Amino acid sequence: MNKTSEHTRCLIIGSGPAGFTAAIYAGRANLSPILFEGMQPGGQLTTTSEIENFPGYPEGINGNDMMEDLRKQAVKFGCDVRWGVATASDLSSAPYHIIIDGEKEMTCDTLIIATGATAKYLGLPDEVKYAGQGVSACATCDGFFYRKKKVAVVGGGDTACEEASYLAGLASHVYLIVRKNFLRASKIMQERVMGTPNITVLFEHETTGLFGENGVEGAHLVKRRGKPDEEQVDIVIDGFFLAIGHQPNSGIFAPYLDLDETGYILTVPGTPRTKIPGVFAAGDVADPHYRQAITAAGSGCKAALEAERYLSANKL
Ligand code: NDP
Repeated sequence: MNKTSEHTRCLIIGSGPAGFTAAIYAGRANLSPILFEGMQPGGQLTTTSEIENFPGYPEGINGNDMMEDLRKQAVKFGCDVRWGVATASDLSSAPYHIIIDGEKEMTCDTLIIATGATAKYLGLPDEVKYAGQGVSACATCDGFFYRKKKVAVVGGGDTACEEASYLAGLASHVYLIVRKNFLRASKIMQERVMGTPNITVLFEHETTGLFGENGVEGAHLVKRRGKPDEEQVDIVIDGFFLAIGHQPNSGIFAPYLDLDETGYILTVPGTPRTKIPGVFAAGDVADPHYRQAITAAGSGCKAALEAERYLSANKL
């Protein structure tokens, strides 16, 4: 153990609805939890505009406001919320070791992993070339820069439809680039997109590259790739937004826990229990199916209850 090591009974990694709900429950149970906020304090909801489907908010609530409220509630009940990113772990034996920001060592009797998931990219070299110059994976973070300009959003799920709708309120025109001939998004989001006059849905289109001298000025697309009527199409845009799903942030735990083929942490069905006693996974990092704020919050609650029971059963 190095000299900057610090021990806690309950360590929570991540500050989305799962992490903060775990913190509220663990705090109220007098576990004196310590929570590290991670790379994106507040998690993915801080990149959403309005949350309309969290029970109890008939008028909707802004994602940042909700996360700020959750943070305050966690602090009120005694959670020590800190800046810091977990960069390595050793879960080979209890107490478990977590390295924060590559230097500080934390040890813990129980660990709640609520590290969420991160936006995926297509893997095109041009996404790297134009990073910060027209390529973004967060419409609510960067949409402001594209007022009265033309933008494209890639994807056909709820995130893509939500981002396209949001951008349509700022940009002059939005292309939604969908690789299949249908949208995967929920009916209400599909209808919203289809009913917005300045959104054009480009079904059966894939992006092959971006072009521009000073940042993104357009995208090269291929329509109906591999079909006899395949066609090359260029669109003129100033911004290119990815909304094609997420990758769970489970990498540092991979040597110790069971993951599915995408990297989601596998837990005992219906519980946040991993295969290691005292180590729990909550929220999107362990949920390829639902990925909602309310389900993440629910699993954070379960993780804290499990942590409390584990500590008491083991007299820790
Ligand atoms: P999804 O996995 O649902 O959708 C991803 C979309 O991106 C699909 O249309 C997929 O196409 C497309 N895609 C994936 N890879 C590529 C690629 N390489 N090239 C082109 N297109 C690609 O992710 P979301 O982030 O949209 O949603 C995740 C979950 O969160 C869902 O359960 C969703 O319902 C939920 N959600 C709910 C919201 C709400 O209720 N307000 C808001 C946002 C998300 P294809 O269909 O061909 O696979």
